[in-house]
Amino acid sequence: MKIILRKITKTPFDFEVKSGEIIFKGYLEYHSGKLILLRAKLSGLLEKPCDICAQEYRMPVEEEVEFFLSDGIYDGFDNVDLDVVESLDGNVDMEEILASEIELIRSDYLRCNECQNSN
Ligand SMILES: [Zn+2]
Repeated sequence: MKIILRKITKTPFDFEVKSGEIIFKGYLEYHSGKLILLRAKLSGLLEKPCDICAQEYRMPVEEEVEFFLSDGIYDGFDNVDLDVVESLDGNVDMEEILASEIELIRSDYLRCNECQNSN
């Protein structure tokens, strides 16, 4: 799902994409300057090996995602307290964003239920 950033207005633009058992659902809304706010929720199940016993584990995911997309190189003139992700071609690919969010979660340290219970 590719979205053209300059078409995003103050009226929230809803999106929903899926990857495996993960759903990424939320909206884009024009903020100011080149910035567009992305606010979404990541939820579902992610398969990942436990970092202790290496068993495949289906990890429940429930995460709020919020950052700015910049249509072009971000000049830093707007004072914002969220991360800014730059788009150099004026488009944003929601599947790509979802994939990088999933990578972030995967890189987190994980202990399966059993390892959590046996200290
Ligand atoms: Zn484990």
